[in-house]
Amino acid sequence: MATKIPSAQRRLFKNLFFCKVCKQKIRVDNSKILAGKVSCRRCKSKSFRAVRKK
Ligand SMILES: [Zn+2]
Repeated sequence: MATKIPSAQRRLFKNLFFCKVCKQKIRVDNSKILAGKVSCRRCKSKSFRAVRKK
């Protein structure tokens, strides 16, 4: 089943994060998340989790 997922879709998930506070979906570069340079557009929170990590 996993092989059916197009690489483009996998790439979409790669830089996709959820705000831990308000569940806002945000797409940013992974390194920016790790560097703490990203804040949530809605609640200004800086805590995110990867979308696939569930
Ligand atoms: Zn938020």
